[in-house]
Amino acid sequence: MGSTEEPPTTPMDADASPPPAPPATSNSSPHHAADEDDDQNHNHMDDDGYATVRHQAAIDEQPSGNQQHAVAPLEVGTSVLCRWRDGKYHPVKVIERRKVMTPSRRIDYEYYVHYTEFNRRLDEWVRLDQLDLDSVEGALDEKVDEKGGNLKMTRHQKRKIDETHVEGHEELDAASLREHEEFTKVKNIATIELGRYEIETWYFSPFPPEYNDCGKLFFCEFCLNFMKRKEQLQRHMKKCDLKHPPGDEIYRSGTLSMFEIDGKKNKVYGQNLCYLAKLFLDHKTLYYDVDLFLFYVLCECDDRGCHMVGYFSKEKQSEEAYNLACILTLPPYQRKGYGKFLIAFSYELSKKEGKVGTPERPLSDLGQVSYRGYWTRVLLDILKRHKGNISIKELSDMTAIKTEDILGTLQALELIQYRKGQHVICADPKVLDRHLKAAGRGGLDVDVAKLIWTPYKEQN
Ligand SMILES: [Zn+2]
Repeated sequence: MGSTEEPPTTPMDADASPPPAPPATSNSSPHHAADEDDDQNHNHMDDDGYATVRHQAAIDEQPSGNQQHAVAPLEVGTSVLCRWRDGKYHPVKVIERRKVMTPSRRIDYEYYVHYTEFNRRLDEWVRLDQLDLDSVEGALDEKVDEKGGNLKMTRHQKRKIDETHVEGHEELDAASLREHEEFTKVKNIATIELGRYEIETWYFSPFPPEYNDCGKLFFCEFCLNFMKRKEQLQRHMKKCDLKHPPGDEIYRSGTLSMFEIDGKKNKVYGQNLCYLAKLFLDHKTLYYDVDLFLFYVLCECDDRGCHMVGYFSKEKQSEEAYNLACILTLPPYQRKGYGKFLIAFSYELSKKEGKVGTPERPLSDLGQVSYRGYWTRVLLDILKRHKGNISIKELSDMTAIKTEDILGTLQALELIQYRKGQHVICADPKVLDRHLKAAGRGGLDVDVAKLIWTPYKEQN
């Protein structure tokens, strides 16, 4: 099988993407509208502890040969082989461990592992009998590891730590360490309920500590308040009067609507959205204030209300010409072209503003692919139809795509050649068609006539 990474299998349709959902920092605790009491008279360890490994189907009852070795618990940092859901052993690193009670009321440990061959969204809690103890490489020295750059750190993170190490900026160093800490965090919420969907989460999200032992959270799909128990949600739904996101509806076409939410006017909603989004977005963990952002929430609407399918966020003012900060299509709605729609929408806003835009970096792998696809389709469509010369600047004016992104895209497609001392775009129709085909089609078009919007202006 090799190192198959799921879920993304059709890269062109990658919907989830780039920079992180920076959850709100402020200590002002967002309403998660738990309307009252919160007893926990059921044992979470049994419910949720075991729930996190439920797809490993009934592996727990019989002690395996491995467990009988009665070895000391594995240390965090240990590298070992682990049996995955494909039944094969894959290398993992132990990120965290916790005590659990076995059904026979014996103390045991579970290990939170990262499969080094796979995306972090597949990190999970496993039991000792899934681990091949003969393969233990010995506990790594975490401290050395951190200095040298943990295997799991991105190049960016590693560089940051290296640089700060050299320059001795203590505050930056602390920030980098915090980033590293975040990066190795254990997934805290396993599933959420949102509207008609129960969704398995992908990553850690910094919910307030009292939610960390929940395993499952219940979201109001309209105001995004979240609760620990289903009954709380049911009570909430009786009195929640929202049937769509707060803010202004700025686009409606068929059953699709887009709402613009000002993070300053709807702070709690913005924070809740960030908490929710972080469950499906990895990497980068800078904390922004939601006040500084606008959120564009895309909904499928029916007679029950407007159901969020995805969103992107955008800084109200960006020095760097960013026109998009975070973008996410919720898992049940992925692979339907919504990611492409959101990207296209962000450029339509830039066109209305009369500005060029670019997504905030770093782009995730999925984000990179989605954007490349979008840029390729838009630029090559123009080149195909255009007669005569056209410059990069003109392309940028027509599309609101930043010139660097245009150059990067055309260079990657080898459509730029150096002739007689200058760069020229080669637009052989056959070659363009081939690239266009490879970039994929489909997706939903943004009907610009249906966008009723004026750019954000700071109000005093
Ligand atoms: Zn609500």
